[in-house]
Amino acid sequence: MKVVASVKEMQEIALKLRREGKNVGFVPTMGYLHAGHLSLVKNARAECDVVVMSIFVNPLQFGPQEDFAVYPRALERDLELARAEGVAYVFAPAEEEMYPEGYCTHVEVTGPLTEKMCGRSRPGHFRGVTTVVLKLFQVVQPVRAYFGQKDAQQALVIKKMCRDLNVPVEIVTCPIVREGDGLALSSRNVYLSASEREAALALPRALEAGRQLVAKGEHDPQKVRAKILAVLTDSPLVEVDYVEVCDGQNLSDLDQLAGPVLLAAAVRVGKTRLIDNIYLEVHHVPNHVEI
Ligand code: AMP
Repeated sequence: MKVVASVKEMQEIALKLRREGKNVGFVPTMGYLHAGHLSLVKNARAECDVVVMSIFVNPLQFGPQEDFAVYPRALERDLELARAEGVAYVFAPAEEEMYPEGYCTHVEVTGPLTEKMCGRSRPGHFRGVTTVVLKLFQVVQPVRAYFGQKDAQQALVIKKMCRDLNVPVEIVTCPIVREGDGLALSSRNVYLSASEREAALALPRALEAGRQLVAKGEHDPQKVRAKILAVLTDSPLVEVDYVEVCDGQNLSDLDQLAGPVLLAAAVRVGKTRLIDNIYLEVHHVPNHVEI
C-alpha cells in the first residue's frame, strides 16, 4: 500500500492506472477508521481493480462552532487498517495541498436536497462536502466511489452533483454498519462518555419504533415522525436537532408513505452530534378494495 500526500503524484498514479485499463474504486473518508469505512472498502474491492482511499479532515465542511479542531485523528492506525483491508493507495494530503493560499472555488448543490435536515442545521456543510468530493474525484479519477447510507443526505447530494455536472463517476451507497446494540458506527462515537453512549441508543431505538409503526400499516408521515420524536424526547441527555420522515430519493415531503421512504434524525448527546436513518420501501396496500 502506498501513501500519497501530493495531488500531482496522486494524479500521475491515477493516469497510469487508467492507461493500464484498471478501474479505480474510491473510498473518501475523514479517517479514524471503523468497520463502517472498511465495509465501503470491501464493496469497492469486490467491484473494482484497485481501491484508493482518501483520509482528509476537510475544514470546509465544518462550521465555525463545530468540532474541526478536535475531530479524532489517528493516521498510523488508519493506515494499518486500510492496508489489512487491501487498499492499494491512501491519499492523505495536508490542508495546504487541497486548499493552497488564495483558494476560492466552491461547488454547491442548491435547492430542496440541501435546504433541510443537516443542510438546515449545518449551514455551508454540504457546500464543503461537494467541493472536496469533486476535487478528490479530479485527483483520484475513480470509476466508482463508495459512500455510506449512514450519511443518506450526503449520498443524495453527491449523486445530484454528479448528474448536474456530468461527472463520470458512479456513486455507490452502502448499508449502515452498526454496533451489536444498534448504534451506528461513527468516528464521533469516541466523544461519548459511558452514560452518553447508553443515552445515544435512543437514536436507533426511536427510528426502529418509527419503522415498526410503518410496518403495522401507518402511512401518515406526521404520525411516524411524532412516534420517533416521542421516543427521543423521552430519553434523558438527548436533545433533538431534527426528525424527518420523507421521500427516500429526493427528500421531499410526503402526504402518504409509499415507495422509497427515509426516516432520519439528528440529535445531540452532550456535545456530540449524531445522525442516523432507516431507508424503507413502503408498499401501500389499501384497506378496502372496491369490487
Ligand atoms: P466520514 O469519515 O465520517 O466522513 O465517513 C466516510 C464515509 O464512511 C462516508 O461515506 C460515510 O457515510 C461512511 N460511513 C460512516 N459511518 C458509516 C457506517 N456506520 N456505516 C456505513 N458507512 C459509514
